[in-house]
Amino acid sequence: MIDEAPDPGGVCLYRGCMPSKALLHVAKLLTEVREARAWGVEFGEPTIDIDRLRAWKDGIVGKLTGGLGQLSGQRGVTYLRGRAELVGPTAARVTAPEGDTTDLQFEHAILATGSRPASPPGLSLESDRVWDSTRALDVPGVPRSLLVVGGGYIGLEIGSVYAALGSAVTVVEMTAGILPGADRDLTGVVARRLGAVCEAILLETTVAGLAEEGDGVRVTLQGAGVEQTERVFDRVLVAVGRVPNSDIPGLERTSIQRDARGFVVVDGQRRTSEPTIFAVGDLVGEPMLAHKASHEARAAVEAIVGHKAAFEPAAIPAVVFTDPEIAWCGLTEAQAKAEGQTVQVCRFPWAASGRAMTLDRPDGVTKLVVDPESEQILGVGIAGSGAGELIAEGVLAIEMGATVSDLRLCIHPHPTLSETLMESAEVFFGQSTHVYRPKRPGT
Ligand code: NAD
Repeated sequence: MIDEAPDPGGVCLYRGCMPSKALLHVAKLLTEVREARAWGVEFGEPTIDIDRLRAWKDGIVGKLTGGLGQLSGQRGVTYLRGRAELVGPTAARVTAPEGDTTDLQFEHAILATGSRPASPPGLSLESDRVWDSTRALDVPGVPRSLLVVGGGYIGLEIGSVYAALGSAVTVVEMTAGILPGADRDLTGVVARRLGAVCEAILLETTVAGLAEEGDGVRVTLQGAGVEQTERVFDRVLVAVGRVPNSDIPGLERTSIQRDARGFVVVDGQRRTSEPTIFAVGDLVGEPMLAHKASHEARAAVEAIVGHKAAFEPAAIPAVVFTDPEIAWCGLTEAQAKAEGQTVQVCRFPWAASGRAMTLDRPDGVTKLVVDPESEQILGVGIAGSGAGELIAEGVLAIEMGATVSDLRLCIHPHPTLSETLMESAEVFFGQSTHVYRPKRPGT
């Protein structure tokens, strides 16, 4: 295994999922401490020691990456620190951080070089005050005001962290709604709460220019509803998507092909157009999610050792760790509509869930996208506290070809939020105990 870092871990462990989730945990705690007043519990104003917070987060990263290093050692994996260059279809050269080179011959290789934050020309100002996600996750400080460019996964997750830490956060999103890939009824739940914790969420708005001014950044905003086109923010976070790291040195010495967006082209086994070389993860296309990458890697390894394997998931879960979380898998309602597919959608509002009420989080919805003929579950969407944990049941249902009856008949533990999945299946039959929605004749 070749990587420049001291231990394996990649974006997920070093500068993605893990540091962001540690910080989002703190954000959740800060929010609950404030909300506890309504439950008759007062803690006083929290004080935040940013150095200790950062050290705690870095400690988690250190333990996880160190653990992976040990695990790979125990499994007999040779870990070479350095940057690799392809010399041909079966050879690579690795340059160590100190400059020494090692030549390697291989029968097969798997490329998993990931992606990096996109930095479009108008948004790439060389300045300490303009952050990408990596810089923001270092928590260099808590700016008084933060402009987040991009209302997608990263913008909303990191924006939520800084809003909880005390920054006045403004989000600008180019499209008509946050998280363009997700169903609107789900994003609506999050948008309502984010609207309350952020200073503003400006939709159909873009940034036309950035320039340093005083201690901050002067930003030129462009959009139909923008009242003030020139504003100064302490810091700006640019989170407008990611691009694949497919500019691998020596790629031209192989027959590997890339598509128009720069993704490496692979087949169902994740083999590139160079038969000895496979590629997985963000490098080969959307969705850019760690769990998709690791399953692709399993398929690639199985293909290499001669098994009849392919990467053909029926459902890849997506989770946005905002407050509340949004999670979905399989067919979305918007996709069904765009493709002209007839589906029946069953929604269970969390205001009817006893467990949600005891958590003071009735702001949620669980929905199923169902084939009305076969009654098979084609998609599941959840907006609500802990949606990311709950969605796994939806993945299992879809992968197993479950029908709404299967889900309805599975006894779910009470009182839990998982019951919202069972009750949304009951909604299909007009029999949900906790919402009165009788089945209409002919449906
Ligand atoms: P994204 O695609 O999720 O969101 C980018 C957003 O920026 C979109 O809503 C887009 O419309 C908007 N945008 C693009 N250009 C703009 C502009 N000039 N002005 C204003 N808005 C603009 O991308 P991201 O948030 O950078 O995250 C990248 C990827 O990383 C995600 O797609 C996801 O695959 C992955 N990721 C996943 C998680 C998770 O699983 N929880 C968390 C973080 C990142």
